[in-house]
Amino acid sequence: MSSEAKMSLGNILPTTNKTVLDRYLRLTIPDQKTQVLYVWIDGSGEYLRAKTRTISFVPKSPTELPIWNFDGSSTGQAEGSNSDVYLHPVTLYKDPFRLGDNKIVLCETYKHNKKPADTNHRHHCLEVMKRAADQHPWFGMEQEYTLLDTDNHPFGWPKNGFPGPQGPYYCGVGASKVFGRDIVEAHYKTCLYAGIQISGTNAEVMPAQWEFQVGPCEGITMGDDLWLARFLLHRVAEDFNVNVTLDPKPIPGDWNGAGMHTNFSTKAMRDPNGIVEIEKAIDKLSRHHIRHIKAYDPKEGKDNERRLTGFHETSSIHDFSAGVANRGCSIRIPRGVAEEKQGYLEDRRPSSNADPYLVSEVLVRTICLNE
Ligand code: ADP
Ligand code: MN
Ligand code: MN
Ligand code: MN
Ligand code: MN
Repeated sequence: MSSEAKMSLGNILPTTNKTVLDRYLRLTIPDQKTQVLYVWIDGSGEYLRAKTRTISFVPKSPTELPIWNFDGSSTGQAEGSNSDVYLHPVTLYKDPFRLGDNKIVLCETYKHNKKPADTNHRHHCLEVMKRAADQHPWFGMEQEYTLLDTDNHPFGWPKNGFPGPQGPYYCGVGASKVFGRDIVEAHYKTCLYAGIQISGTNAEVMPAQWEFQVGPCEGITMGDDLWLARFLLHRVAEDFNVNVTLDPKPIPGDWNGAGMHTNFSTKAMRDPNGIVEIEKAIDKLSRHHIRHIKAYDPKEGKDNERRLTGFHETSSIHDFSAGVANRGCSIRIPRGVAEEKQGYLEDRRPSSNADPYLVSEVLVRTICLNE
């Protein structure tokens, strides 16, 4: 069971009346007051936190926004005796909830001694992306996730049993085939509104499991857009009184797990006969399997161990493999890429709860920088 499922108390969470809320949200605010939601990754490296401040101008760039701080002892990021952690605004998005000139700003976290906080993996990722910028690394990440009821039981599943076996659900349509499409649709729109490079969505193999794709994004934008898309997903689902888990194997047994397939290319791979570069990259990846597995979930492989079994469209965590159109391999070359002899590769190993900054960084280190 996932940690969320274990925490299940069987209680129904309180709800409020959204129609009444709407009356207040319609109030017009005197000019030049902007609400800016500062979002950051907490000490778990998996979950997000956010708080708002009023700004007396309309920010056009994150650098115009003040550095802020928070109580790191409440987020697993500092001791109580020295608890201030700093928020450095890095990427600005339009706010799809508050609308107007209001903003969401993704932040990096820094300790009192000006060093990046332990789960601030963006800091090093950005350095690596700058060093490889001339190779124009592109990423496309496929974020799988599972919707849970407020008792943390999979959304729409019978309370005392299981739905019928997998088969009809993937890309399904119909009330008994897919559960929670309202959330998927709402989330898709919020991503487009905010300015995230979301490229699509689909219902997954396990009922109540879904996927959205972000990309292609160059360099650091991949991690930024994916983290903010995750924030928007949790926030939208909250409005529907539904939980989201990124656990890679939320339901043990004959149910697909959740991954974050990462599609990757450099300019040389996208150019004619780039297949030669793709094959070189696969050879480099084959020599660093364990290093990549360690970067592909927040517990250095322990979470992914439950998912990468060699069954349910995965490869074994213990072996490296590559193949054309083979979904049981670590690395898949899409059929179209093999035919056109140019394009990208798909690394199928990252877990759904992996940090996209760590995943994109290690790919660039291995493939572009030969480290
Ligand atoms: P799958 O067939 O594995 O389900 P998806 O359609 O879900 O693939 O996702 C493919 C992802 O690959 C998308 O996010 C897309 O933006 C990305 N992508 C497409 N071309 C490239 C490329 N040249 N380099 C990196 N990513 C790419
Ligand atoms: Mn306080
Ligand atoms: Mn996909
Ligand atoms: Mn998928
Ligand atoms: Mn895929």
